[in-house]
Amino acid sequence: MKRHFCLDIGGSFIKLGIGKDDSLAEVDAVPTPASYDVFLARTVDTLMAGGLQADDRVGISIAGSIDADNGSIHAAQLPFLANVGFAPELGSALTARLGEPLHAEIAVENDADCFAMAEAHFGVGQGFDNLFAIILGTGVGGAQVYHGQLLRGYAGTAGEWGHGPFIQKQDPSMPGYVPQFACACGQKGCINTIGGARGLEALHAAAGNPLADSRKIVDGWSDGDPACSATIASYVSVLSDALALTLNITGAQIVPVGGGLSSASDLLSVIDGEVRRKTLQARNKPMVIEGQTGQNGGLWGIHAQLLSEAP
Ligand SMILES: [Zn+2]
Repeated sequence: MKRHFCLDIGGSFIKLGIGKDDSLAEVDAVPTPASYDVFLARTVDTLMAGGLQADDRVGISIAGSIDADNGSIHAAQLPFLANVGFAPELGSALTARLGEPLHAEIAVENDADCFAMAEAHFGVGQGFDNLFAIILGTGVGGAQVYHGQLLRGYAGTAGEWGHGPFIQKQDPSMPGYVPQFACACGQKGCINTIGGARGLEALHAAAGNPLADSRKIVDGWSDGDPACSATIASYVSVLSDALALTLNITGAQIVPVGGGLSSASDLLSVIDGEVRRKTLQARNKPMVIEGQTGQNGGLWGIHAQLLSEAP
């Protein structure tokens, strides 16, 4: 069994874990540099310091979308990766240090895909053959794992339940009004515009409330504050509509949740109740539940992906 050198690259840290079989140990975490040259050099140094050899496999979980055609990476927090061939250049730089090329290609996967693989193989998705993982973080992400393998779909877009004009025009004078905010994808009314922490805050502000942090809104709802409760009611209503539809389409049996809002257990349990009420064939146990791989979902996920690719 080969060793897997797993990198989790985000806007703040580059984490390295070394995985083998069913185990994985986090061995290093270094700050993410702001320029590409330093970033590439630091990634190489981190792998070499971990003891990388040419017959080890290297996999990367990254917070961004990966172009299915040319492998370029578009990540809001890593803008310097947009026009470079990061994986091939990392491979060349490692060849120079190792004295020979890596024996296998470097795998690069998006962090939501990695979270789904982590939960399917090592988290709450164990024992289920059809899983739909969601991220309720800054925005909304998702990915489906079927019989242990990621579903990729056309141009790698499978699982992107957060996009598309789902929120319809409503009467702004009516209670529960949810505006059609513009989304970074170019559409208006995507679940991504209200489903994450920034979306929840935008929804709260659009109802005429002062700007408040998403945690304060969730806490206010728990304490019975009327304004926060109204915001959460709108939020849960629209989010659960979209998620129930997604589960009807995918037939997924379990929905592990990652991202900052996943730790709001009361909120998750209300979302779960609504989703199961709206789904055609719901399980009689909670489906929408907090993932178990948490902060290290990226490392466990890319390890799981490399395991799934093993001959
Ligand atoms: Zn969108």
